[in-house]
This record gives sequence, structure tokens and C-alpha cells, in this order.
Amino acid sequence: MQVYSKSNLIQKDILRLKNDHSIGFVPTMGALHKGHISLIKKAKETNDIVVVSIFVNPTQFDKKEDLIHYPRTLKGDLKLLEESGCDMVFTPEVSELYTDKIEAEHFNFKGLENQMEGKFREGHFDGVGTIVRKFFQIIQPHHAYFGEKDFQQLQIIRSMVKSLNLPIKIIPCEIYRESDGLAMSSRNSRLTYDQRKAAPFIYKVLKEVQANFQTKSISFLQNFVEERFKQHPILHLEYFTIADEKTLKTAIRKGSTKKYRAFIAVYAGTIRLIDNISLN
Ligand code: AMP
Repeated sequence: MQVYSKSNLIQKDILRLKNDHSIGFVPTMGALHKGHISLIKKAKETNDIVVVSIFVNPTQFDKKEDLIHYPRTLKGDLKLLEESGCDMVFTPEVSELYTDKIEAEHFNFKGLENQMEGKFREGHFDGVGTIVRKFFQIIQPHHAYFGEKDFQQLQIIRSMVKSLNLPIKIIPCEIYRESDGLAMSSRNSRLTYDQRKAAPFIYKVLKEVQANFQTKSISFLQNFVEERFKQHPILHLEYFTIADEKTLKTAIRKGSTKKYRAFIAVYAGTIRLIDNISLN
């Protein structure tokens, strides 16, 4: 496994290999867990070379505190990557990718960016678009892997690739969960013992919504979730939305031909957790 911190060096090696090797790319912010590794394993199945980036991207954080406290575990990450069969790791400094100013470009993702995470994390998806576009320009992979854990991000990247006509296939990857149902996240390591014990409640409620989706109305389910969290001593609901999977617009009534997904964001103390589930 080769580790790079300079864009021109990794790009040179990838371009040399690209003609007769397929390149799979998995962007991450590090503090790797089994969820990330599942993306790498999937990339390994269909690509000759798997490239993973580790970069905590400052422009996608709306809260300075969250950026400062984001877990950084590079030594352990590199060990996990070596064991998972990753071929190349890209760990640039901030100054390598943001050469002038640490600033996001502005994107138009056709309204996808105005829903859910976009409403509650100002500028977040401009930051995501900025960094993923930079990575795509440097790595130029055939395939790029994104987790459904960040479903809105996945749809936004698909939209960006389409509008920029990039020759990159975006591969979605299922949410990887702890045995108690909590979606794996780098932020889980910051939960206190009591918060960690409470957190599987999020997935439990999503499963209840899924089980009742065919027979209950959307407004009933919306109320149901809000009530479930009102009584909770540790977890605080930021939003719960049932939305059309494609447009990500909040659904008011069910249409028979559409696919729906439930999306949730919850605070445990200052730690923000997100999750989602397919409903039909
Ligand atoms: P992050 O390091 O949080 O930016 O995540 C890097 C990639 O891993 C993103 O595409 C995430 O959606 C994906 N990911 C993170 N957690 C999980 C999980 N529990 N299951 C599947 N994919 C995940």
C-alpha cells in the first residue's frame, strides 16, 4: 500500500496505471470503521486498484466546534486500510487542496441541496461538492463509492457527475450497522456511555416507521416519531422527514409509483447523528 500526500504524485501514478487497470475510489474523512471498510471491500470486488482518501474537509463543516473535535486517527486508519487490501491512500494537507483560500465554490444541485441536511447545515453541500470535485479531478477514478448513510450526499454527487459530464460511475453502498442497529459513524466514538446506550433508539424508530408505512399516513408517522422523541431523556430530534428518494422533497401524501425514504437527524448532547431507511 502506497501513501501519498501530494496531488501531482498520486495523479502521476494513477494516470500511468489507468489504461489497463480499473480504478475504484473511496473518499473518507478518516476515523475509519467497518462502514468505511465495507465500501473498500465493495470497491475491491470490481476494481484492480482501490484508492482511499483521508481528508477532514474544513469547508463542509458548518460548526467550528465539530471540525475541531472531529476524530483523527491516522495511524490506526492506515493499519485498517492495509488489512482491507487498499492499494493507494491519499492524505493531503489542507493547503494541498485549498491553495489560495479555504473556501467552498457555490453549486446548484437542482434543489437537492435545499432539503434536510442542507437546511440545517448551511453551506455543507457546497463544501462537499467542492472537495469531491477536486478529488475527482486528481484521482480520475472509473468508479467512486458513497455510502447510503449519507443518502442526500450520494444523490448530490450523482447530480454533480451528471451535470459536469464526468466519466465516473457512482456506486451506492448499503448502511453498515452495529449489532444493536446504530448506523456506524466516526462520531459514535464521541458518545458517552449513556448516549451510546440510547442511540440504537434512532434505528428502532425508523424500523417502526418502515413497518407501518403501508397502512399509516405520512402525517400520522410524522407525529408518531415526534412524540416518540419528545419523551426521550437523552436524544433530541432535529428533523424527521419522509421524502421522495429522487427529488428528496418532503412527501405529504403517498404516490403509488414513487420510492420513499425516511430521514432523521438527532442530537445526543452535542453529537449529531443521522440515519435513514428505505420505506417501499
Ligand atoms: P465519512 O468519513 O463520514 O465522510 O464517510 C466516508 C464515506 O463512507 C461516505 O460515503 C459515507 O456515506 C460512508 N459511510 C460512513 N458510514 C457508513 C456506514 N455506516 N455504512 C455505509 N457507509 C458509510
